Amino acid sequence: MAYDTDNIFAKILRGEIPSEKLYEDEDTYVFMDIMPRADGHCLVIPKTPCRNMLDATPAQLSACLNTVQKMGHAVMKAFDAEGVTVQQFNEAAGGQEVFHLHYHVLPRHEGVGLRPPGTMADFDVLKAQADKIRAALA
Ligand code: AMP
Repeated sequence: MAYDTDNIFAKILRGEIPSEKLYEDEDTYVFMDIMPRADGHCLVIPKTPCRNMLDATPAQLSACLNTVQKMGHAVMKAFDAEGVTVQQFNEAAGGQEVFHLHYHVLPRHEGVGLRPPGTMADFDVLKAQADKIRAALA
């Protein structure tokens, strides 16, 4: 399947729609998920185009996973979490909704389940949570 340059994460990378940015380096960009399934739920994406893991290059995968590890430590520190869940979906049948490779990074606490998908965040709360993660990264 071809890469759609009008997918929502491509628009975020081009600055055409806003995002609550947490971190970027030469190869990756990280921002808050607007429908968080846990406090601190963020998304790691490559800056270059690919639909998902299936068409990604080794360099894209490697850059993303380095940043996923960095963000895992940051969200655990920011939310005093005991663990971190990383999710990544491929194609619609695999649960993917946005067709630009992304990794979900979710801080976790013992005995606390993920919230159901699809509830929009309060943007003031999201920004406050993002501030905590940015502070943990500093
Ligand atoms: P999936 O493709 O199933 O891994 O899910 C896409 C994820 O992107 C979902 O968790 C959405 O909440 C999230 N999402 C969709 N649009 C935006 C956006 N504009 N900014 C941040 N996160 C988004």
